[in-house]
Amino acid sequence: MDFSALSGAFGRMEGTSSRLELTEILVGLLRETPADVTARVVYMLQGALRPGYEGVELGIAERSAVRAIAKSSGATPASVERAFKREGDLGAAAEKVLEKKAQSTLAAADITVERVYGTLMRIASAEGPRSQDLKVRYVSSLLNDADATGAKFILKLLLGTLRLGVAENTIMDALAVAHTGSRDGRAAIEAAYNVSSDLGAVAEAVALSGAAGAEAFGVEVHRPVRPMLAERARDEGGALAKMGGECSAEYKLDGERVQVHVGDARVSVYSRSNEEITRFYPDIVERAPRAIGAAEAILEGEAVAMNADRTEFLPFQELMHRRKKHGVERAVLKYPISVNFFDVLYVDGVPVMDEPYAERRERLEALVRPDNDGFARCIPREVVKTAAAMADFVEESIAAGCEGIMLKSHRSPYRAGSRGSHWLKLKREYRNELGDSLDLVVIGGFFGRGRRTGSYGTLLLATYDADRDMFSSICKVGTGFTDEDLDRLYQMLSPRVVLRRDARVESGLEPDVWFAPEVVIEVVASEITLSPTHLAAMGAVRKGHGLALRFPKFTGRVREEKSAEDASSGEEAVALYRSQVKSAVAGAD
Ligand code: AMP
Repeated sequence: MDFSALSGAFGRMEGTSSRLELTEILVGLLRETPADVTARVVYMLQGALRPGYEGVELGIAERSAVRAIAKSSGATPASVERAFKREGDLGAAAEKVLEKKAQSTLAAADITVERVYGTLMRIASAEGPRSQDLKVRYVSSLLNDADATGAKFILKLLLGTLRLGVAENTIMDALAVAHTGSRDGRAAIEAAYNVSSDLGAVAEAVALSGAAGAEAFGVEVHRPVRPMLAERARDEGGALAKMGGECSAEYKLDGERVQVHVGDARVSVYSRSNEEITRFYPDIVERAPRAIGAAEAILEGEAVAMNADRTEFLPFQELMHRRKKHGVERAVLKYPISVNFFDVLYVDGVPVMDEPYAERRERLEALVRPDNDGFARCIPREVVKTAAAMADFVEESIAAGCEGIMLKSHRSPYRAGSRGSHWLKLKREYRNELGDSLDLVVIGGFFGRGRRTGSYGTLLLATYDADRDMFSSICKVGTGFTDEDLDRLYQMLSPRVVLRRDARVESGLEPDVWFAPEVVIEVVASEITLSPTHLAAMGAVRKGHGLALRFPKFTGRVREEKSAEDASSGEEAVALYRSQVKSAVAGAD
């Protein structure tokens, strides 16, 4: 497949903010892509080479990319750097520099998607002291033969600055139209993606055999399943009604969700966003085979930091000591954890996700072998039938150091990749106070003044609306940041600056810079009000009005384990708005 077909489509996608148009361009591209190249095209659309859980990192130092452009174009590195400064992006700079060269030479030979992909893979796996030189050679071999647009996108892929505005949802819609004949095929595609977390593999199967290709996907050990998520409950009474008068309540521990896969004589661990995090948990790797009574299994649990004799839960932040390249083994000894299993998805060749929760819990209790020192266990659980019993369990859980409780419908299967009312979370502070926390996506920044010069002093935050696949602004936040926070956020956000507002982002405000919607932070606020400028939950409470947070404050917590699509939704903001109105009425009595 000619790479120009792909880079041409990338160019058209970059030029539009309309979701409909994006989908149309994608459908056209997927139809013209040969089946055996589809997976590679889908990974590249996502700015990657392999599914996220494989952790294949594309990358090259900016200086090396400048050298490669100079080498291929005959320009000096200094003039490439000048173009870089002017354009604000190395990909765009390469396009400009190579356009000049193209005018003075014959048309370049076209290169194929297969060749670009193969070379990018080689670049991703290049290691060692000479690797930057090798990468420069690989990149410039591609740039020699690519046209100017192709060169631009090769560099954007390499530098991680490709921003096409296509989310997984849009790709799945387009796949359904292109390869199953209508949007109806989307359900099978989504189900396959939910159990495999590999959209490229699903796309290729669908390109080869239509919906049947997607239906053939099942759960496999060492391939993460997309997690089931919970909705918020406002209070015990409402939660119990939603659950049909009876459900299980479990502790909601504040740690890191771990999906533990055991099989083929090895253990792997995946995070809530399906990244492989095995290297941070050598203790799970060592002990899971003994703690889990099956040759092959997929279990989910919460890994929680503990004090030395594992009698007390410690705050989430303590787990971050393990998040490093070197010295993980030492951190593991110094900061012990416990793994509190709450679900089982697969046992010895049998997928059990479709079994009701009550049966899965029984299986789990039979599988997990609690050990003497409290490392592994099933999460505490109780069947509740009254609001009073639920309230007691909330108190008990909080006394034990939890955030609150999780409620689980006895009849519900494990719904991979979806948030629904079969799991509800009930945190104590949600019940009637205004000081609730929300996880919001950073979509824009305003430059700081005074002490905050050189950082983003104020951030523009958004909720996520899954139905429309849009991030809608809900507030600006400028308080709660320590100097360290400001530095850290600047490091995280600068690489995510985009020149145009992302197609999935909307706000009535114009920040100094827009970001690709990727970073999620936790904020609290004193109140939720109607707003003419912020667009979260637009029209849901009053026509022409969105919702805004008043006096929002950063809690200090960047939710690194959450992807932008896991952020609080407009609906959650509406629920909070309504509960606030309700409690104001109750307070007036
Ligand atoms: P939240 O991150 O606030 O949306 O809450 C959901 C998260 O709570 C899950 O992703 C888990 O990491 C965590 N969690 C803690 N205890 C449980 C439990 N008993 N069942 C499910 N998730 C739990």
